[in-house]
Amino acid sequence: MSRRPFPPTVLRKAQRIIENGDVFRVADGLYSVRSQSYRWTRREPPKVRGLSYMVEKITSPEKWQCMCSGFKSRGICSHIIAVMLLEARKAEDKGGPPDA
Ligand SMILES: [Zn+2]
Repeated sequence: MSRRPFPPTVLRKAQRIIENGDVFRVADGLYSVRSQSYRWTRREPPKVRGLSYMVEKITSPEKWQCMCSGFKSRGICSHIIAVMLLEARKAEDKGGPPDA
């Protein structure tokens, strides 16, 4: 597997998604990730948050796909990176108690 470095801005966004606890595991290899695109318009209250995107792991060859426009144009997005970082963390924790 080749590993390309992620764009730093996307990586920062992904880290914020994790810190906010905005990644929800739906099933094995299927996650719902809340978008971080806040819409601070005059019409909408700031508590209105972005959409949730489904991030799905495809097997053979293993890759991730997301429904957002960023993924469509760049082939990578903060949602996927957030899920990948979480999965990597979980792999490191293996052997410990399963998280609820
Ligand atoms: Zn995405």
